[in-house]
Amino acid sequence: MLKFHNTLSGQVEEFRPLNEGEVRMYYCGPTVWDYGHIGNFRSAIYTDLLSRYLRYKGYRVTHVMNITDIEDRIIALSQKNGVTIDEYTAKYIEALWEDFDALGCARPDIVPRATRHIPEMVSLIERLEERGHAYRSDDSVYYRINSFPDYGKLSKINFAGNIVGASERVDTDKYDKEDARDFALWKGAESPDEPAWDTPLGRGRPGWHIECSAMSMKYLGETFDIHAGGIDLVFPHHENEIAQSEGATGRQFARYWIHYEHLKVNGESMSKSKGNYYTFRDVRERGFSPVAVRYFLFSVPYRKQLNFTFDALRGAEKTVEGLRDFRLRLKETRTEPGLNPTLHETTERALKDFEAGLDDDLNTSVALASLHNLARDVNTAIDHHAVREDNKREILNLLDRINTVLNIFEDEPSAMLDAEVQSLINERQEARRRRDFARADEIRDQLATRGITLEDTKDGVRWKRR
Ligand code: AMP
Ligand code: ZN
Repeated sequence: MLKFHNTLSGQVEEFRPLNEGEVRMYYCGPTVWDYGHIGNFRSAIYTDLLSRYLRYKGYRVTHVMNITDIEDRIIALSQKNGVTIDEYTAKYIEALWEDFDALGCARPDIVPRATRHIPEMVSLIERLEERGHAYRSDDSVYYRINSFPDYGKLSKINFAGNIVGASERVDTDKYDKEDARDFALWKGAESPDEPAWDTPLGRGRPGWHIECSAMSMKYLGETFDIHAGGIDLVFPHHENEIAQSEGATGRQFARYWIHYEHLKVNGESMSKSKGNYYTFRDVRERGFSPVAVRYFLFSVPYRKQLNFTFDALRGAEKTVEGLRDFRLRLKETRTEPGLNPTLHETTERALKDFEAGLDDDLNTSVALASLHNLARDVNTAIDHHAVREDNKREILNLLDRINTVLNIFEDEPSAMLDAEVQSLINERQEARRRRDFARADEIRDQLATRGITLEDTKDGVRWKRR
């Protein structure tokens, strides 16, 4: 029985989709103002794992992830660079897919972009006006929070008092709002050179929250099964999505709300000013393999904070290598016909434990423990020539099955980019200059496991791929 923690009820609940055998899910995806950081990818990878596991369980899944390609930072940066917002975001959208591919995240089935759904947002705002949930002030349109008595049901914040903060990411206090909590659905254009659309609501651009209500309902229907995102989105973003969608339709919006705890770095929130902010690309350039990053990011259950350190990532690199070596070793083991019944039981138990872990609110640490136990037992069995032909086939099949969810096995290590190799070589040279030979050797070994050999010549270091 599959169970999830539903933020809406505050409890772990049995998962039952609206239509039998079918799951419709929406994930609040990236704002493409920069390369994705490792925290963003923790959420993206967990969403990938979720949709893969639902498919593993036999559901037909429609997985939608939006791309926020209009917001204040994007506007400011595109203006600074003298390009259109589309030109500005193109680079980061392309980078997003490169990162997704490297990290083994399947592309979501539908990836709507905010700028391509302005008419849908406008008509949703018009519906809200008709039902008394929205009002115009100056050239903007606001959501009237007073008109929606359920406001606060997701975040459990008591709104009896006057809580400011439900407004947009960047507040527009200069406009007249009926209530400080009210948030912008549509922002009237203030100057002729800012990106804006001419619509029945006037010239302007959408607020951030309306985008997700409009696009999720367009592709998944007014009521759908799962809405996911990082924990930072519970309030105000998701609270506002509920107010918008349920205010417009009078029906339940998403049925299960899944929120991922944040990734921290050395125990602190990432921030560029603190110098503890890493994109996935930064981490790759330090020579870590994408699969180790993937493994690391899903290794801690999603409702726990994950603390990122390079030491922990080095640990993940070793762990994944160990698992991959185990699989290759098994593949190459010579076996006699027949079945070893003890090992057969071990295999069945591993599968059961793996599923029981993920069924229990995607508890990846239990699921991964089952895999490590299996690897340990099978490695011992190989040492004792106790693996028979049928065991080998059965275990390899099991690993393939598990891998449809985890996506960490691959026969060949993924090729390193030249830039990654070069940056490691530079770091090794630097280590040698400091006479830190342990680090220098570590880098040489790290490169060797990725198929790169080094040759120290009098003209410097040459490298080649094996
Ligand atoms: P953004 O690009 O900020 O719109 O975020 C994209 C997704 O990443 C959202 O689902 C966020 O909730 C999530 N997210 C942002 N920061 C973190 C973090 N430090 N850890 C985990 N998820 C995050
Ligand atoms: Zn959203």
